[in-house]
Amino acid sequence: MLDVKEVKGTQTGSGLIFGHPSFADHEQVVFCYDKNTGLKAIIAIHDTTLGPALGGTRMWNYQSEAEALNDVLRLSRGMTYKAAISGLGLGGGKAVIFGDSKTQKTPELFRRYGEFIETLSGKYITAEDVGTSTSDMVYIHERTKHVTGLPENLGGGGDPSPVTAFGVYMGMKASAKQQFGSEQLNGKRVMVQGVGHVGQNLVRLLTEEGAIVTVSDINQENLNAVAKQYGASIVAPDKVYEQAVDIYAPCALGATLNTENIGRLKCAVVAGAANNQLADENEHGRMLLEKGILYAPDFLINAGGLINVYSELKGYNREQAMEHTRKIYDTTLEIFAKAEAESLTTIQAAKAIVEERLASARQVKA
Ligand code: NAD
Repeated sequence: MLDVKEVKGTQTGSGLIFGHPSFADHEQVVFCYDKNTGLKAIIAIHDTTLGPALGGTRMWNYQSEAEALNDVLRLSRGMTYKAAISGLGLGGGKAVIFGDSKTQKTPELFRRYGEFIETLSGKYITAEDVGTSTSDMVYIHERTKHVTGLPENLGGGGDPSPVTAFGVYMGMKASAKQQFGSEQLNGKRVMVQGVGHVGQNLVRLLTEEGAIVTVSDINQENLNAVAKQYGASIVAPDKVYEQAVDIYAPCALGATLNTENIGRLKCAVVAGAANNQLADENEHGRMLLEKGILYAPDFLINAGGLINVYSELKGYNREQAMEHTRKIYDTTLEIFAKAEAESLTTIQAAKAIVEERLASARQVKA
């Protein structure tokens, strides 16, 4: 059962779902269960004003149903923002599968999950996320065409992470331009937290440009390999926040920007790939601003992966996806300018642009 203690009333109600603090006007939330395969999943469709809701499927060993529901609702809303700010004809959605991605994956589970997606007739389109991969998408594809992030031999673009990393790199260069007066990252000290799929591609781009990179990860083997390959220094996971660096790049999991960690930061810019980096968007966006730290909105600069899978819907073209992702540089600067002009935090400025786009699209539809 959902943990009722975590549920407070909101403007849409006071129940477990409509009253959930992260409900945020979701259009549809689908609970999927299959006894034979052990599948337990939640698909959250936040907003389809701009197009079908595209967002990845996360497989995670959630400690409670409440934790999973909160995660999927927050991530799904973030996808609406990400698509809208990137100028894509997509809405926002996300899904979570309960389970350990290392031990509980089976082809049958993903095929059955694909059947659930098929029942939504294209209103939700999935892709990979933390805990799922291109090969899992292949099993889903056996039961529905509403899946992206497929391998090249099935018309897909493969792993979207290198494109995500490129977008983060573009957002980081725009942040450097704003904060240091030059987009050059040569000689800049960058702390990359998490050297998984995105993080290690980001380390590659940064070291190619001559940045001085420090890395951290809880996966020691991967960490050592990345540090060795790119000549990066290593710090322990609990020492990440107090590193005296120019740029901190969160590329592990979300909510690392909370009251305690922000107090420890000794950087001038935060620009990374993780979703939902700010534990509380208003409070922690403001704290960063007051500390003089420039925050590059996560849902903007990590949109490269979404741009890449979106390209699959129209016939995959890598060059076009990279060109579209390159525009993250200009959009990031536009958001910084709006934030300055209107005395907003950068996340508020980005969200204001999204709300304007959604409102005018709704008007056209009405
Ligand atoms: P990943 O699972 O491949 O990598 C995450 C890495 O973070 C792993 O190596 C993990 O060991 C490490 N990690 C976990 N906890 C840590 C901690 N406390 N300290 C240091 N390292 C820690 O995931 P990914 O695909 O590289 O994605 C990274 C982040 O970017 C995620 O938040 C994801 O949602 C987000 N994101 C990814 C994409 C994409 O295209 N893959 C797109 C948009 C957003």
